[in-house]
Amino acid sequence: MSADEYILSVLSSFLKYMQSQSSVSLVPFSSFHSIGSASNFFEITTEEDIVSLFEQWVFQNKFYILWNGCNTLFDGDFEGNLVKNSLSWIEKLAEDEMRVTLQVGAGEDWVAFVKYCVAHNYAGIENLSEIPGTVGAAPVQNIGAYGAEVADVIKEVHGIDLQTGEKKIFSQQECSFWYRESIFKSDLKGLFIITAVVFTLQKYWSGYQLNLDYADIQNYIYEYKCEKDQLWIKELSEIITIIRREKLPNLDERWTAGSFFKNPIIPKSQYEILLESYPMLKSYPVANLFKTEEQVKIPAAQLIELVGLKGVLEDGVGTYINHALIIVSKGEQDGAKIVKFSQKIQREVNQKFGILLKLEVNIV
Ligand code: NAP
Repeated sequence: MSADEYILSVLSSFLKYMQSQSSVSLVPFSSFHSIGSASNFFEITTEEDIVSLFEQWVFQNKFYILWNGCNTLFDGDFEGNLVKNSLSWIEKLAEDEMRVTLQVGAGEDWVAFVKYCVAHNYAGIENLSEIPGTVGAAPVQNIGAYGAEVADVIKEVHGIDLQTGEKKIFSQQECSFWYRESIFKSDLKGLFIITAVVFTLQKYWSGYQLNLDYADIQNYIYEYKCEKDQLWIKELSEIITIIRREKLPNLDERWTAGSFFKNPIIPKSQYEILLESYPMLKSYPVANLFKTEEQVKIPAAQLIELVGLKGVLEDGVGTYINHALIIVSKGEQDGAKIVKFSQKIQREVNQKFGILLKLEVNIV
């Protein structure tokens, strides 16, 4: 290396250091806008940034990888390295008459990516319209809605091993997808950073079947007298967007991270016992890779409603009037207050039904 190159490399690593910020407010970094600060903040926009942070020992100390903060609740200050993943690109890798394969940067906005696919007639994720989040966060909890799961269209997940700094590619099978679960949320939690996701999508004109099964969609079609055979992915995406917006609070009035808990899956025998006391309790078959006869999915929102906690607001924190699964806060609140309220919901649901609601939101 020449002297000039050496000076340039020292300067460039110095500049990388300059990109970090100390003691930053957490308020803008989560959709709850909870109060607190992070010791250090870094934003990655290229894969080289990850290598640089690895060399700066950012991942060898306490860290948290932040996407767009819509599934994160900070419970007070974060004493560690907050790393925002803002890797952003969409690249077409392959295409034939039937399918297209896209590689998408992990920091791309999920809602925008769905819109991009719908606009290009790439089918497979239209039922996942309007789920707040990023492309890289989608495989972590295998986002799903209205009968579709992101696992159905994922070909590969790319990323970097945070212990060795090596690049790694996971095939769909290696991701261990399950209902709102994946290897990235379990075995690899905190050990791997997703840099890109590769999707295989169908071209809509290839005889693709829209998934219209869910009651909300059926009701909309019935109410607005939509002709089913006139619906394209664009119309279905719009219908889902309207349905979801009706269920979500106005973010100018209430802060939220959407569904706070996962819909519980319980043994069918337990459900049948509960039915004796609560005959209106709904259940749905477990529709995923590990489908079994013996388990059913229960809407968590109904359980919360049955314990009388739908639409309540206690000291600025509560549940949304139109959807009990959505915890909301009025104004910037201390995250601990929101955590305490969520624990109250868990306790009361557990006491009444013997079901422990598991978190969908990451509490940090
Ligand atoms: P919803 O439509 O009221 O459904 C509540 C529960 O019933 C969910 O567990 C849902 O299963 C289940 N369900 C309803 N119809 C079903 C059917 N025909 N077959 C099988 N299961 C059925 O739920 P919501 O809270 O308003 O949310 C709408 C959709 O968005 C749901 O699919 C929900 O799961 C999804 N969502 C996803 C995320 C996420 O991925 N992070 C966050 C919020 C909401 P499923 O959960 O399997 O759909």
